[in-house]
Amino acid sequence: MFCRIVAGEIPATVVHRTATTLAFRDIDPKAPSHVLVIPVAHHANVIELATDPAAAADVLATAAKVAELEDLTDGFRVIFNTGAHGGQEVSHVHAHVVGGAPLGPMLSAQR
Ligand code: 5GP
Repeated sequence: MFCRIVAGEIPATVVHRTATTLAFRDIDPKAPSHVLVIPVAHHANVIELATDPAAAADVLATAAKVAELEDLTDGFRVIFNTGAHGGQEVSHVHAHVVGGAPLGPMLSAQR
């Protein structure tokens, strides 16, 4: 699905774009600032992304740029949900950059 956002077939509110990455607002934000960062090249998840170190570095650099553009000077989180236990719903790797308010405990589930 996110390949269709890259192709412009599905609209998105783009925050930042580079030759290799795209950053756009999550359609259902979980924090005052919630931006998704994806590599333009398709990788299903963070494990596949790790096999392409240049793309992985570009995604992290864009995540850092988003934090700057969103003025997240008090902090933020970068999250890669992965697989069923990680709650990954979209199989095009994406970094969630969330912030803009205190985010609470890292995990809500009890262990
Ligand atoms: P995941 O659970 O896979 O880590 O996160 C997928 C995220 O993509 C969710 O936060 C969801 O709100 C967001 N999302 C799903 N479909 C769309 C879409 O069409 N456009 C945008 N901007 N976000 C989407």
